[in-house]
Amino acid sequence: MAGTLYVVATPIGNLQDISLRALEILGSVDLIAAEDTRHTGRLLKRHGLSTRMISYHDHNEIARSAELVRELVSGRQIALVSDAGTPTISDPGYRLVRAAAEAGVTVAPIPGPAAALAALSVSGLPTDRFLFEGFLPRRKGRQSRLAELAGFSGTVIIYEAPGRVPATLRDLLDAFGNRRAALCRELTKLHETVLRGTLDELRAAVEAKSLKGECVLLIAKEGLD
Ligand code: SAM
Repeated sequence: MAGTLYVVATPIGNLQDISLRALEILGSVDLIAAEDTRHTGRLLKRHGLSTRMISYHDHNEIARSAELVRELVSGRQIALVSDAGTPTISDPGYRLVRAAAEAGVTVAPIPGPAAALAALSVSGLPTDRFLFEGFLPRRKGRQSRLAELAGFSGTVIIYEAPGRVPATLRDLLDAFGNRRAALCRELTKLHETVLRGTLDELRAAVEAKSLKGECVLLIAKEGLD
């Protein structure tokens, strides 16, 4: 009988944000496919687990997927984890999920943190309709993508790398106008900060006091007072 591929969410900062079920699965599978085995090794060690790991990342995704699907078909149980949050969400993994499902393997989610939803939940912006953009294109197609996003009638959620937030806020201001927005930084970590205001207020705040760390930007639909 074929094994199961578990897609396991791990913390986005605070190591206590791991579910009991995630720990049970990570401790009982035959193999963990991890984006960075050293990073995941620290999480396993903290919880007294020593499951075998194999790397699975952007650069070996295609070859590794075929290998892992063979293991799954032969009956092995495998957990997929990324460095932070939910695998496949702005992280590698969907190719493995698709290949496993096509091979008739059961794919089961072990849900938990995702920075986008954690940020949305504290943003104070409407949550009834939202669009998850992930990372914006850095150069080619950036302006046209921003223009498309500005037309969406709901909250837009963007991931941004540390250091690029001021420039992205300026681009958002140009494309969206001065809408209501939120900047969620270092969620669940020591320096967790949530700034709420207009895009121009957020721009001024980050330019006055260089804010470092992982960030999620959220922009409300047009016309929200
Ligand atoms: N798979 C992850 C998830 O479920 O959210 C996302 C991985 S993506 C490579 C990393 C980006 O997620 C960061 O650049 C940042 O935009 C966002 N992120 C991750 N952890 C965060 C945190 N603790 N606080 C704010 N943003 C975070």
